Amino acid sequence: MCGIVGAVAQRDVAEILVEGLRRLEYRGYDSAGVAVIQNGELSRTRRLGKVQELSSALDEAPLAGGTGIAHTRWATHGEPSERNAHPHVSEGDIAVVHNGIIENHNKLREKLKGLGYVFASDTDTEVICHLVHHELKTADNLLTAVQATVKQLEGAYGTVVIDRRDSERMVVARSGSPLVIGFGLGENFVASDQLALLPVTRSFAFLEEGDVAEVTRREVNIYDVNCNPVKREVKESEVTHDAGDKGEYRHYMLKEIYEQPTAIAHTLEGRIAGGKVLDSAFGENAAEFLKDIKHVQIIACGTSYHAGMAARYWLEDWAGVSCNVEIASEFRYRKSHLFPNSLLVTISQSGETADTLAALRLAKDMGYKATLTICNSAGSSLVRESDMAYMMKAGAEIGVASTKAFTVQLAGLLMLTTAIGRHNGMSEEMQAAITQSLQSMPAKVEQALGLDDAIAELAEDFADKHHALFLGRGDQYPIAMEGALKLKEISYIHAEAYASGELKHGPLALIDADMPVIVVAPNNELLEKLKSNVEEVRARGGLMYVFADKDAEFESDDTMKVIPVPHCDEFMAPLIYTIPLQLLSYHVALIKGTDVDQPRNLAKSVTVE
Ligand code: GLU
Repeated sequence: MCGIVGAVAQRDVAEILVEGLRRLEYRGYDSAGVAVIQNGELSRTRRLGKVQELSSALDEAPLAGGTGIAHTRWATHGEPSERNAHPHVSEGDIAVVHNGIIENHNKLREKLKGLGYVFASDTDTEVICHLVHHELKTADNLLTAVQATVKQLEGAYGTVVIDRRDSERMVVARSGSPLVIGFGLGENFVASDQLALLPVTRSFAFLEEGDVAEVTRREVNIYDVNCNPVKREVKESEVTHDAGDKGEYRHYMLKEIYEQPTAIAHTLEGRIAGGKVLDSAFGENAAEFLKDIKHVQIIACGTSYHAGMAARYWLEDWAGVSCNVEIASEFRYRKSHLFPNSLLVTISQSGETADTLAALRLAKDMGYKATLTICNSAGSSLVRESDMAYMMKAGAEIGVASTKAFTVQLAGLLMLTTAIGRHNGMSEEMQAAITQSLQSMPAKVEQALGLDDAIAELAEDFADKHHALFLGRGDQYPIAMEGALKLKEISYIHAEAYASGELKHGPLALIDADMPVIVVAPNNELLEKLKSNVEEVRARGGLMYVFADKDAEFESDDTMKVIPVPHCDEFMAPLIYTIPLQLLSYHVALIKGTDVDQPRNLAKSVTVE
């Protein structure tokens, strides 16, 4: 979750490292630090808070040196504080940054204390640097010391180690947390995400599970889990979008909300022809994998889970296959039943979500017929380890609260529905109707964004609220869930979503004038049922905000504000109704004055369990 950047160069690297951290700050941001080797000595600066704090500290007291490592932290062990911020140092010699969790840190800590090491932080990470220091007493060099160290670690790590006595080298290791090596001219880099390094290089090699690599200015030597030398393909980055730039927008989240028409257009590009979704949208050999599928198991977390929930309605209703959707952290720790001819679908923006990745590995052992990931990050673990990949092409998403990734996932899942449906007898007309709907989505999203001003006004009503209830039916129920999640994440208002048929089974008890109720009401076959639910709320004095099709015939009055949403067909309705809910949470957060892009306690790319 955190950001890692490292460099070995002839020039001073502190500024490159801090710029890299800035680009990764969305991944974790409770503290930040940098260490460089300067004239054979380690110099380190750390600060509680955002990268800006670190950057200001460095403006006052710059660090110089050609080899260095840097980190933004998302605390798992030990409170956010300067003393717990990375890099951690052992005996003034070894400095370490780490992403992930060392599960056996207590045992290792006791052992290291017995060897005389004194701990300066409460983090699990600190065991790594003392262990490397200890191993170096008998190892030939830093590489073998790190190889000996990682053998003793249980848990997940992406880590970078430097030694002041061997000042032109970094050793990096990956198990469970992503790391990418960036190749420069006479200088080399490492980071937890290629975004960090785009100002200095576009050539990257992704480390694989268990890899340890030695990086100097001129050479990168990679070794696999058995310490055998291996080559990892070096690719030119295709990331064209400069994610470091908010442009005219006040927040990344708003920029990403407005990027949705383009992101959806990109995801459709080259994937639809002659009224059909091409199997190749899901990767090579997809036709072979998809043809006998009779059951789909979707695994995801957070927002991606909501996208999966919506897809369940579509797959069962239109593609004629059964479908289960489960949260990854549940699926991975229970015994589940494997249906014949099952496809496992994982959904993750980053492709590194720890629980989802673990679930994929488990499913592969269970014998699923094929695995597919819907993912926004080429080269990520989920993409590499799945049989098929639907690359979302949404462009980098920086705002912690996911927006464009969600709608692009919905578009991808709708395509998957038609691809699977085609192998199960979905009619040509139906396929054509869905693909036509997909192709008109960018323009319709653009129209929905036109609601921005009206929603900004509406948001005022939520300024003093502490709770909110979201209601939807059918495939709009997951959209209500996503709306509630957005509001929680960035405005800190407690929000819950219910399938509106559930109202009278409990939540109706909560309704009063202080509990705003947000209803998503497209004009579909469940509209009349939904109207009855709306009456149930009205009869109890609830105040409602209804996002409705203009033909749905809701009238604004004292108890109900109706926000007309552009008319849309049933295939795109979940995606279109998402837009006003995103805008609502954004504007409420603005009024509340929260940190929209980096809400408290959260981080992007959840690479820890
Ligand atoms: N577990 C480590 C800590 O709490 C690393 C956290 C991170 O990934 O930022 O310091």
